[in-house]
Amino acid sequence: MTSTTYITLICLAFVGAATAGSDWSYKDMSKWKDSNMNCVKNSQSPINIEISKAELKELGDFNFSKYTKLSNAKLSNNGHTVQLEVKGLTLSGGNLTGTYDTLQLHFHWSANVTTKGSEHTVDMKSYPLEMHIVHVNPKYHNVSVALTKPDGLAVLGFFFKIGDENPQLKTIIPYVGNVTSSGKNIKSFDLKGLISEATKSDKYFRYSGSLTTPPCSEAVIWTVYEMPLKISQKQLNVLWSAEDGHGKRMTNYRPVQPLNGRKVFKNIPGSGSGSGSGMTKAFSVLVVFSVVLSYLS
Ligand SMILES: [Zn+2]
Repeated sequence: MTSTTYITLICLAFVGAATAGSDWSYKDMSKWKDSNMNCVKNSQSPINIEISKAELKELGDFNFSKYTKLSNAKLSNNGHTVQLEVKGLTLSGGNLTGTYDTLQLHFHWSANVTTKGSEHTVDMKSYPLEMHIVHVNPKYHNVSVALTKPDGLAVLGFFFKIGDENPQLKTIIPYVGNVTSSGKNIKSFDLKGLISEATKSDKYFRYSGSLTTPPCSEAVIWTVYEMPLKISQKQLNVLWSAEDGHGKRMTNYRPVQPLNGRKVFKNIPGSGSGSGSGMTKAFSVLVVFSVVLSYLS
């Protein structure tokens, strides 16, 4: 095969990938399976989380590295959502194996409606907005490979409820209504500040699931925080004005999918970094202290 043929094939593969990526819509989600059989597999996301059925487990708190100083991130509208590239931050702890790298964060909502919009629901309750911070497991060569592994991605999900103006969102909200696919550079953004209202309590749910958009890859370790963050109605209105590339306002949430016997865990807050609870640590110190005392006496 000549090098020209190789280049042509590679170009065709890219065109194919680009078409497959953009060739879906929220209008007819039953068609997603036509090009992505993953979308009808058994471990799909989002799900409804039933608090009373979640199994309590010490998962531990997370380490958010460099989340406070996010700079030169690109905000863009890909026709399905408004997305901020957030490269260079890392996530560890929370019972994850190893350290994950951030890729991007994006939002899901229902234009002009506040009673729905979030993808996950808690005891069937929806929120008007849900944010996903997507991380990839760097042990895999690239994102395509990670999408084929059950621990390929770690996504943090945050709900928003209507309340006071969110100061951290001020950096990006003014641009989301008219940002294009080519994007806008965001000079600084305090991501840790944005999520701290939810993360400080360590109340979160964990389950294994999928991307909530095609190709619906079952490669996601999901963490969904229970405490919602705040966004003002005025700020939400700006998100609602974002268009899908065909001049239509976006409504971009997938409804909940069957759990199919999957376990949902709820972290026991205050359980440290997964190496044992505060009480367990205190007990260990007491035992060591007693042993030392018995030697001395
Ligand atoms: Zn998402």
